[in-house]
Amino acid sequence: MSESLIDPIELTQSLITHPSVTPNDGGVLKTLQDQLERIGFQCTRMLFEEPDTKPVDNLFATYGSGSPHLCFGGHTDVVPVGNLSSWTNDPFDAVIKDGNLYGRGAADMKSAIAAFTTAASNFVNEVDFKGTISLLITNDEEGPAINGTKKVLEELAKKNVKIDSCIVGEPTCPSQLGDMIKIGRRGSLTTNISITGIQGHVAYPQWTLNPIDALTKVLKKIVDLELDSGTDDFPPSNIEIVKINADNTADNVVPQSATAQINIRYNVLQSEEGLIKLINNIIKEELSDTDYKSKIEFKNSAQPFLTKKSDFTSKIKEAVDSVTGLNSEFSTTGGTSDARFFKDYCEVAEFGLVGSSAHQVDEHVRVEDIEKLTKVYEEIIKKYFS
Ligand SMILES: [Zn+2]
Repeated sequence: MSESLIDPIELTQSLITHPSVTPNDGGVLKTLQDQLERIGFQCTRMLFEEPDTKPVDNLFATYGSGSPHLCFGGHTDVVPVGNLSSWTNDPFDAVIKDGNLYGRGAADMKSAIAAFTTAASNFVNEVDFKGTISLLITNDEEGPAINGTKKVLEELAKKNVKIDSCIVGEPTCPSQLGDMIKIGRRGSLTTNISITGIQGHVAYPQWTLNPIDALTKVLKKIVDLELDSGTDDFPPSNIEIVKINADNTADNVVPQSATAQINIRYNVLQSEEGLIKLINNIIKEELSDTDYKSKIEFKNSAQPFLTKKSDFTSKIKEAVDSVTGLNSEFSTTGGTSDARFFKDYCEVAEFGLVGSSAHQVDEHVRVEDIEKLTKVYEEIIKKYFS
């Protein structure tokens, strides 16, 4: 057995020292690319831009050729540090203390990138295999995610690069490393509702038409909907009102208009089209035979998906359970990730570290968990190509 060429802890620290707050990569992609080239990966940078977005750099690295093709997906960008003075150490110093590694991006998700880079390095260094291992790394996941993974995948498809299976290294575990593997996600539909009435003096309601009255009735009907009761793999679809607003600086004026925003996280029993129709009908019905005017806008940022349990998902579970000693659970909970883009091209599952401190002040991971995660990824690669 040959010596490991990369130390995943040192690589994590080195990635964290680059302040790669979306969309700036702060040099992090170069550091990663240098490591990957050193161990024999072919690297391609893909810079994408489009009107009204910031240009974003991405890195696609491959080793080997043809199928089967296993890809590791990840993002080097991080969210802003927030209140810097609340941090115990500088968020980009990557300090290790009491067995924890601290820094912005430690949990989400530079440690996982270091872990799968090390695992891939160890594997290609030891084993002759048939197929391709790749890394698809974007610096735009935490932001608009327009010039990132989505475009890289489109570009690869144009070049006839076919990925068969993908593991996204997002932090998936709620409390200990190995407790959860994600095999799908809910969809996310945001709706902006604006209702216009007639502005006027509150003392003369006969000459006004209060848009807040109509809006609250509409919202009540929407949140009272019971969309479904979930499936074996998904929790029930859920509707939340996230914003209500009526610009009004006076207490004696009925405002002209009122707006609200709702977000629906929905499972595979619902569809974007079905939900749009449902919401439109509720509003139309509530406002019919009135003088209110309404404007409704929908923005669907993710479709729900479920990766069928297969040889691929069982290999992941076997690897996770054997390294961690736990009985991992398959889940579809949580927010969206770039898995929503991969799912259109290949089977995709997500496994990574404990995510409880992601995006927080003093974000951290256990150093020991980075070592274990590296072993998990190495086991997955071995099983995948065996
Ligand atoms: Zn993330």
